[in-house]
Order: sequence, then structure tokens, then C-alpha cells
Amino acid sequence: ADSYGKEKAPPLPPLPTVSQLVKLYQVRATKHLSQNFLYDPAIVRRFVSCLSNKLNGMHVCEVGPGPGSITREILHREGEHLTVVEKDKRFLPLLQYISDVMPNKMTIVHGDILQYDISQAFPNELAKSWKDDPPPFCVFGNLPFNISLPLLFKWLDLISRQEGVFELGRIPFVLTFQAEVAERLVAPPGTPQRSRLSILSQYLCDIDYRFVIKGRSFIPPPKVEVGAVKITPLKKREIDLPFHSVDMVVKHVISGQRQRPCKKGASTLFPPRRKDLVEEIFQISGVTPSTRAYMLDNLHFRDLCYAYEDIAKRIPQLKLVDTFDPNMWSKTYFDKDGNPRNNIN
Ligand code: SAM
Repeated sequence: ADSYGKEKAPPLPPLPTVSQLVKLYQVRATKHLSQNFLYDPAIVRRFVSCLSNKLNGMHVCEVGPGPGSITREILHREGEHLTVVEKDKRFLPLLQYISDVMPNKMTIVHGDILQYDISQAFPNELAKSWKDDPPPFCVFGNLPFNISLPLLFKWLDLISRQEGVFELGRIPFVLTFQAEVAERLVAPPGTPQRSRLSILSQYLCDIDYRFVIKGRSFIPPPKVEVGAVKITPLKKREIDLPFHSVDMVVKHVISGQRQRPCKKGASTLFPPRRKDLVEEIFQISGVTPSTRAYMLDNLHFRDLCYAYEDIAKRIPQLKLVDTFDPNMWSKTYFDKDGNPRNNIN
């Protein structure tokens, strides 16, 4: 039996263990949904502690609660309210069981977190301004790997615009990722893990890679190690541009070209015959074109992004072509010499 069977009783009756619940409702981890349930109670506690030891007064949202081990730990810490969002309806009776034991503490949403508007989980009147400390809201999630990354990208975009749930303030979230992805999230310049993901997440957020979770802490154990990461939006982002504008530059400069001089990747931002524009982006930004892409720090990327914006103000067609294929440039917005056509409204 794990410690969940021995929770301090009154007023709560003891809860069955997660394994008993799973057996009771005959919920099996489905491989194609990559459902790896966090089972080790010490790890569950450590995961929730990534945010803080106490959750008093907090409104919490848990995404993908599954059979509810993290859910129960959150409730145990006496948060103000918990909303769980679960896609797989087979878990709903299990979650309802937990909710019945703690009346008025928990709301169950049957839905897809990629579609759900999390702001519904938080009372608007407690929202804080972006300049303040974070509001008393937070999000936890041990999601399938194929969901956590698209979710992160969606949230980074919202953070860059301070929209959606991030209109309510700098809400922190604790998520699991494949350890290899977690390493890329925090990678500083000059490390082998430095990648597009590193810059896009670091320019907007404080990324705190808290700990590695061994496969054996899950049922069934995943093939790879897992990283628990706490992410808090920064008060002042390092690059004052929306996510898609930064992504355009970062993607071209670093993707597939990380070991090569950054000039190589940057040249794919422009028509092949416009070497003059490649020279210009380096002249305006002051970045050294021979620096290898993975050695560039976030401020180098900031300067490249601002320089690209300057050039694109003069030639707005540039932003309409996002390709690594040199032949695509002359298809619509540019002629074969790389001069813009005047067909932009
Ligand atoms: N959090 C539980 C734990 O740690 O034991 C379950 C983890 S399991 C890796 C992922 C959970 O996320 C499953 O319960 C799965 O049904 C749910 N899930 C998967 N995709 C989802 C989505 N798009 N929206 C909400 N829940 C999702």
C-alpha cells in the first residue's frame, strides 16, 4: 500500500491506493495514449513541491489527472480550489470518487487541454497585473509527451501577448517533459542541447529544471527519463516581440545549422540572391556572422530579431515567406533576383 491509503483521517475517510483504484475501475494504461502514471508517492510529493510546500489560498488547475495521484497530493495540501481537465472519460469515475470525498474543493472538466480555456479555472477578481508577483493560481501537469510540447508552445505564444489565461497574471506551471526536452528548455549558449526551444522558452520565462524522474516511478515505466520543470513567465521579457516573430528568426538561424556559422542559417531568412540583406542584418545587430549558431546568447538573438524587424519594415514581403527551400522565394512575393513584387496589401 502506498501512503495514500494512510492519509490523516478525520474528516476524510481513507482513500484507496492508486493501484486499488486503477484495478477497481479496470483502467489500463493505454500505450498509444502514452499514459504513464506517476505512482511513487515520494516523487508525487516532490513534483507538487516544485511549486511550493503549501498550496493554501491557491487555485490550482491540473491537466491530465488520470487516476489522480497528483490530484490527491494537491488536495492534501489544502489549496483553495482544484480544477482538473481530463480527456479520457474512463478516469472520470475515479476523479468523481476523489471529488466526493472532498466536497466543493474540486471541479472536474471532461475535455481536451489544447482546447480548454484555463482561465475558467481561476477567479478573475484575484488576477494580478503582469508587473506584480504571480496571482494565487498555478497549473500542474504530467501529460503525454506529445501533448506537453504543443501545450508549451501554445502557452508561450499567449505569454508573449499576455492573453488568454495569462491576462490574469504571470501564472507559474509545473510540467513533465522527456528529460532530453527538459535539458533543451534550460540549455545555455555553447551547450550541445542549445536549440530553438531554449531561446523561445528562455526569452519569455524563467525555466527551472527541478529534477529527473526515473522511469521506475511510473506505471508502466516509460522508455526515457522524465524531467519535472517549473516555468514562470518573466516580468520583463528579453525580446520585446511576439512569439511568432521571434520564432521566425530563431528557427532559421539555429534549426539544422546549429554547429555552423550563424550567417548560414540567417541567410535563409532572405531571398537567395539578396546577400546584401544578410550583410545588413549583421551590420544592424552587431552580431559576428562567423559565430556558431549554438554559441549565440539570448541577447544576440534579440539583436538579430530587432534587425530583422527593421529590414521587414522596409520589405514587408519578407515576413510572408517562411521557407528553407531557395526555390520557393520566387514563387509569389519576390522575383528571381530577390526584389519584392508589389503584390502585398
Ligand atoms: N497525471 C497522471 C499521473 O501522473 O499519474 C496521469 C498521467 S498520464 C501520462 C497523462 C494523462 O493525461 C492521462 O490521464 C491522459 O488521459 C490525459 N490526457 C492526455 N491528453 C490529454 C489532453 N489533450 N487533455 C487532457 N488530458 C489529456
